[in-house]
Amino acid sequence: MQKTCQTCKKDFEIRKEDLIFYEQVKTVPPLDCPDCRVMKRLAFRNERTFYKRSCDPCKKDIISLYPKSSPYPIYCNTCWWSDKWDPKSFAQDYDFKKTFFEQYRELQIKVPRLALMMLNSVRSEYTNGASDNKDCYLIFAAEYNEDCMYSRLIQKCKGCIDCAFIHQSELCYECIDVRECFKCMFCQECQSSTDLIFCYNMRNSNNCIFCTNGRNLSNAIFNVKYSKEEYEKKKNEIFSSYENLEKAKKEFKDLKSKTIVKYASATKCNNVTGNYLHNCYDGVRVFDTTGTKNCSYMADTEESIDSMDCNNFYYKNELCYNMMGVLQSSKSKNCAYVFYCNEVEYSENCHNLASGIGCNAIRKGQYMILNKEYSKEDFYKIKEQIDEQMKKDTTYGKFFPPELAPFGFNETLGYEYFPINEKEAKEKGFNWQEQVTGTYGKETIKEPEMPATIGEVTEDILNQVLVCKDCKKNFRITKGEFDFYKRMNLPLPHKDFECRHQDRMKKRNPRKLWHRNCMCELKTHQHGAQKCANEFETSYSPDRKEIVYCETCYQQEVS
Ligand SMILES: [Zn+2]
Ligand SMILES: [Zn+2]
Ligand SMILES: [Zn+2]
Ligand SMILES: [Zn+2]
Ligand SMILES: [Zn+2]
Repeated sequence: MQKTCQTCKKDFEIRKEDLIFYEQVKTVPPLDCPDCRVMKRLAFRNERTFYKRSCDPCKKDIISLYPKSSPYPIYCNTCWWSDKWDPKSFAQDYDFKKTFFEQYRELQIKVPRLALMMLNSVRSEYTNGASDNKDCYLIFAAEYNEDCMYSRLIQKCKGCIDCAFIHQSELCYECIDVRECFKCMFCQECQSSTDLIFCYNMRNSNNCIFCTNGRNLSNAIFNVKYSKEEYEKKKNEIFSSYENLEKAKKEFKDLKSKTIVKYASATKCNNVTGNYLHNCYDGVRVFDTTGTKNCSYMADTEESIDSMDCNNFYYKNELCYNMMGVLQSSKSKNCAYVFYCNEVEYSENCHNLASGIGCNAIRKGQYMILNKEYSKEDFYKIKEQIDEQMKKDTTYGKFFPPELAPFGFNETLGYEYFPINEKEAKEKGFNWQEQVTGTYGKETIKEPEMPATIGEVTEDILNQVLVCKDCKKNFRITKGEFDFYKRMNLPLPHKDFECRHQDRMKKRNPRKLWHRNCMCELKTHQHGAQKCANEFETSYSPDRKEIVYCETCYQQEVS
């Protein structure tokens, strides 16, 4: 079924499978296209824009997702979880003379919010959208890590720094989309490998530099075998100075752009479109996801089933629709940040809530509407009336309106994936943050005067204020980072964390799909003298340089 998006006016498709799902979770087909839907969810996720302020009750200096000027009460982790306040004390009676969202807004503005979103973590105060981490610093969308720093979307890793989208890896640096790797640096899309430097799409390989599409390869440079000594020599040369490292980065970029690529980075997947997938079955438009079955229009998801339109959706979720930031929840719709919840709608920051609508900051509860508890019978009676009311005012089945997002659009992941300007954002109903973070012009070392080699760097660097080459923001080197650079013999970075992260994001493909043909013309393949006839959905746009192959042709060439 073809529809026109009510927000951007572009045409989009609602599939037969989508309609069955909407029926199953008791919602109506969306009026927005998938992109407009995801923008509204991402507007609720400020991951990395941090402000210095104080905790409202205890006055302690904290780092927070909300500046001092934010209208919400902001609590540090200790205060938010303490028994000194009760979220249920904010309970509101439902008033059918007002709209649902008017009443939710009245509640939302009063209820304390967590300064940072972090659960079950030890000595990891500067982490956000994160749970079950130990001794980590500035990691985001991160679960079950130890001793990791400056990374986003990192799962079950140890001792990794400056990485993005990595799983079960150890001692990696500047790696993107790697899985089960050990001591790899500047690598992309590698799996089950050790000691790789500037490598792309390798499997079960070790001690390689500037290699692509290698399988069981060892001691190789540009995919040619070398001795262990040659490998060490090349490695030392690359890391000998900042200048040589920058040269190597350019060389790798060039190498990558000419390589053969598979239409999607997908391993152990079946019947799913999207990119950066592992162990996914049955779905469309799925990105950066591991272990899903029957999930569509998803991103940043781990181990979940039978859900649609969810982001940052982790561990054993099922039958959810239109959700942002979820851990172990089921049968829930249109929520932001719910953990261990069941049958919850239009709620934010709730834990262990079963059957709730319009709740905020509930830590344990059942049959609740606007933070007020009801009997089971009354709950379902009022819920039915709210559904009717929302159907009448056409808000039924839609996510929270953009103006209820507690952040400026430019502070959120929405801006990272859809970089629209202030005017456009406001036209779409999003908020905008005027305030800037960080300091400028306070540097004690100018960028061109940075030490060229790590050998010249002493612990005194920890007292210095550095300046980012790109955005001119000031930044510092932390002790853990210093120790890592020394141990790995790496020159100091000339950019702050955010610009380093943006550089990594630019190396990844966009969350968009184009319908294309396999580019293979190799006569030795099953298609013979004919060009391969296979078609696919790929995140490589038609104007890119890479040679894009279908699964069959790719496997014949690389294994
Ligand atoms: Zn749209
Ligand atoms: Zn506090
Ligand atoms: Zn910068
Ligand atoms: Zn092909
Ligand atoms: Zn072929």
